[in-house]
Amino acid sequence: MDTKYIFVTGGVVSSLGKGIISASIGKLLQARGYKVTIQKFDPYINIDPGTLNPNEHGECYVTADGMETDLDLGHYERFVGIETTCDNSVTTGRIYKAVIDRERRGDYLGRTIQVVPHITDEIKRRIMLNATKQPLDFVITEIGGTIGDIESAPFMEAIRQLRWQLGRDAVCVHLTYVPYLKVASELKTKPTQHSVKELQGMGIQPDILVLRTERHLDDALRLKVASFCNVDLECVVQSEDMPSIYEVPVSMQRQGLDAAILRKIGIPVGETPAMKPWREFLDKQRKATTEVHIALVGKYDLQDAYKSIRESLNLAGIYNGVRARLHFVNSEEVTRENVASLFEGMAGLLICPGFGQRGIEGKIIAAEYGRTRDIPTFGICLGMQMMVVEFARNVLGFEDANSMEMDAATKHPVIDLMEEQKSVTNMGGTMRLGAYDCELTKGSRACEAYGGAAKIRERHRHRYEFNNLYKEEYEAGGMRCVGINPDAQLVEIVEVPSLRWYIGTQFHPEYSSTVLRPHPLFMSFVKACI
Ligand code: GLN
Repeated sequence: MDTKYIFVTGGVVSSLGKGIISASIGKLLQARGYKVTIQKFDPYINIDPGTLNPNEHGECYVTADGMETDLDLGHYERFVGIETTCDNSVTTGRIYKAVIDRERRGDYLGRTIQVVPHITDEIKRRIMLNATKQPLDFVITEIGGTIGDIESAPFMEAIRQLRWQLGRDAVCVHLTYVPYLKVASELKTKPTQHSVKELQGMGIQPDILVLRTERHLDDALRLKVASFCNVDLECVVQSEDMPSIYEVPVSMQRQGLDAAILRKIGIPVGETPAMKPWREFLDKQRKATTEVHIALVGKYDLQDAYKSIRESLNLAGIYNGVRARLHFVNSEEVTRENVASLFEGMAGLLICPGFGQRGIEGKIIAAEYGRTRDIPTFGICLGMQMMVVEFARNVLGFEDANSMEMDAATKHPVIDLMEEQKSVTNMGGTMRLGAYDCELTKGSRACEAYGGAAKIRERHRHRYEFNNLYKEEYEAGGMRCVGINPDAQLVEIVEVPSLRWYIGTQFHPEYSSTVLRPHPLFMSFVKACI
């Protein structure tokens, strides 16, 4: 079968959950046996989101092949269990850079380079790129931003052209918002009508409308939207608030979203898949009610800033039969005086990744608190590095120990800049990124968590590393390096075996947790918290 293309756009307001809808469509089509991928096209100019502030834009997700991407790729991987690549995350910046590089090389000699056709052609090429590298039945493309944004216009034009070229092999799904006006006790469809008009003005007729709503929409309202917007009634589905985002695929299936897409394309719909493993997961989720309180020690007070970590803990909780209640603790506010009261009642501490000086002393105090009270403690990337610094200061007696990132003059640089990073001058896309091998020490807690595996592969995003000059002192002092990269001898995992669960990882295990395969380290951590 030729590859089919599904475009997902959003109107009225942002934050409607386009990523969740895209991931749900992917899940439902995959459950029918189709091979799918999902990609995100973002209209901003940054080449990738690696340089964006997590407090504004949420976490930066990293693919196995080392691309810094939008956090929606995390949803795609968690829902569908696919591995995305650098081809699944594209920004306006990348599009323009490719075109401008070509222009400088002389590829377009003599011609005037314009948004149409050169930029739009490059967008179209990228939309279809994934299917040239692997056999795919469906490519789902989510367009970031909201219809009407100036910078999304070239993407809309590219979609319009592709629809015309591909005919029935392309389907447009448009997400809008139906607000409820309390004073009038009424649900309002006008914003949806306007949003669809705006799309139509760009030459795109949506095939399917997904209406985000906080209240149930009845058939009369759906019919009204259908007739105003030129969309079949069965193609108007609603996305009500759900207790969990993982309920969304089944809710979409119940309303026939995947069947509507297949009918639009002209593929026989066939039987509705049972989605047994997914439903079993939802069942576990509903039954997991006992709460386990875990502190997230970080500096970005935005739900999305640690999205993959939060989801990894939630998933590990559900598979352990509990509900992980996460409490954000701002590391800038943690002091020796208040640490005991801040962490009162916490069954575990997770010390988050991060960059820069701000808030690190709080992370160090948290690491000390977890270590000295023997509370299960999980440090990820910068979190691991701060566990290492704390251990040097308080156990090995190197009072001024630090990471070179925070104090380049320290006499005890227990965390040092990686050799290959020393010549790096550009900030974007130059860290140690993506999946690298790690050999585990037999008998260590980390190895046990991974089911006794000898070798694992995990994703990275850092410039600094454990300084191997101090390795022997750490080992003698009781912190062991139990995960090592075999090619560069970089320390990937440290643990204190005399404690119940005290593990730090230089890599980011959170990027590879999925709904049907919760990550073994998170599983083991949450189990220890219980
Ligand atoms: N800032 C640290 C480094 O670059 C840690 C990075 C992170 O936590 N992702 O090594």
